[in-house]
Amino acid sequence: MHEFSLVSAVIDSLEQYGAEQGWQQVKKVTLKIGAMRQVIPETMRFAYKAACEGTLLAGSELEIVNVPIVVRCPKCGREWGEEHMGMVCPYCGCDDAQMTQGMELDIDSVEVEDDGEKED
Ligand SMILES: [Zn+2]
Repeated sequence: MHEFSLVSAVIDSLEQYGAEQGWQQVKKVTLKIGAMRQVIPETMRFAYKAACEGTLLAGSELEIVNVPIVVRCPKCGREWGEEHMGMVCPYCGCDDAQMTQGMELDIDSVEVEDDGEKED
């Protein structure tokens, strides 16, 4: 279950950031997760809940936004997704295609319990 290590990394960085920002309690975290991460949302939530215990994220809600895979051809500029998983362009045969989306593991937003006065 690699979800645990992904989640721990996220929580570690949020805890560090939260301590700097003086967060009291995190209410909700939204994560953008690319399809290449092959994360199972249920497992992710379970791992998240377990890993949050004893941190300022304890009891917070996890929302997962799935980001589909997008591969782009540098030669003809076309893009494709999971229906054609290869890194060779199905249109022009160029084998230098780049994945432009799908590897995300980004913190999209965090809802925090505080005075709500401070702008960041
Ligand atoms: Zn192409």
